Amino acid sequence: MEITITEEAYQSLLAQARNDAPIESCGYLLGPDNKTATVSYPMRNIDQSEEHFSFDPKEQFAAVKYARQNGLVIVGNWHSHPASPSRPSAEDIRLAFDPNILYFILSLADERPVFNAFSIVGGEVKEKIQLR
Ligand SMILES: [Zn+2]
Repeated sequence: MEITITEEAYQSLLAQARNDAPIESCGYLLGPDNKTATVSYPMRNIDQSEEHFSFDPKEQFAAVKYARQNGLVIVGNWHSHPASPSRPSAEDIRLAFDPNILYFILSLADERPVFNAFSIVGGEVKEKIQLR
């Protein structure tokens, strides 16, 4: 499965993640269909932690509303790993409740950022999705 993310959406979340580091950064990726991410919707990490993140339920609600009003769907959520690789941690897998969205992880551990998307179903990482 291939997912397209626009350069604008990617640059937007990259700037947010770099700005928030070393705290983990997070948000939603929205798009016209579930294979195309065109909008990075920034969210606050209410944990303010370097090792995990939580969304603010009010912001999640606002993001869903924003998507609906703009004819977009939620492609997935994303968060940054400021100092670890771009793959789901045990906690990320445990907290991945929605099998219908993708989980994007941006690693800033190396000089060159690494951005991957995963499908997590029933506590298992099902697929590593190719981004273009
Ligand atoms: Zn994580």
